[in-house]
Amino acid sequence: MGITKTDFMRGMQCRKMLWLDRHKPQYRVIPPETRARLDAGNVFGDRAMSMFGPYEEMTVYLPGTRIPDKKKMAEKTALHLQLGTPVICEAAFLYYNNYCAADILKKTDAGYDLYEVKNTGTVKDQFIRDAAFQYYIMDRCKVRIHRIYIVLHGPDENNPFVPEDITEQAKALAPWINDHIWDLNRMWKQQEEPEQEPGEQCTCPYECWYYAYCHNARPEQIRMDILKGETTMSERKADKAEKEWSDEIPDDEEEIRPEPYEETYQDGTPKNECWKDR
Ligand code: SF4
Repeated sequence: MGITKTDFMRGMQCRKMLWLDRHKPQYRVIPPETRARLDAGNVFGDRAMSMFGPYEEMTVYLPGTRIPDKKKMAEKTALHLQLGTPVICEAAFLYYNNYCAADILKKTDAGYDLYEVKNTGTVKDQFIRDAAFQYYIMDRCKVRIHRIYIVLHGPDENNPFVPEDITEQAKALAPWINDHIWDLNRMWKQQEEPEQEPGEQCTCPYECWYYAYCHNARPEQIRMDILKGETTMSERKADKAEKEWSDEIPDDEEEIRPEPYEETYQDGTPKNECWKDR
């Protein structure tokens, strides 16, 4: 099993967070307000699928479950890319078992444009890094991605989809993705829990779901927090969580192999202080 976009972003915020996701997920406490925000984002994302008119959605579930079948989704996506389908939603890609599903791919004369949908009014640094991970995986899968957009939630509810072009920033981050993705792959398979002192990474850019675990909360308090989170968890969010953390692709150490990236860092790549390498 490789890592997903969400894994990568969590691992870059704190490596221990990613390790806990795999080895001690029972200590994860997702605040109700975070669940509500993610649910609202899912609804907005579903609406955005039709922003260019008719589309083909690539989601395929494992039999009898609501867990997306990543391999089948990637195969279906490859077929639609061959067919030249004009608009592909939840387009899935696997590169050495590292996985991403792009919200929207729109065909152009130069290849495909990538649209990442965010239910918010401004572009944030982590959105660009998020899109950069997708670009990296798709580029390595030899898909020609031309422009990259973040679709923001604008003020006009009749037409709320506002694309912001982030192509240059996102493409410039591909070497940064390459520099870290293989280490994260190795790290989260190790048996020992990584040592990491709590610090600014516990709340920046997102509050960590293991805050109580790492800040020495009493076991009974952690349990109460977990129960509180479980009772407010919606079906929809549970599906989304399974999508990101499902384990259906077997481990294969041979699959983890760092490769040199062709490009070099570009001077002036925007760096948010929250994302300093740790
Ligand atoms: S609480 Fe802080 S140290 Fe612990 S996993 Fe989360 S970010 Fe890392």
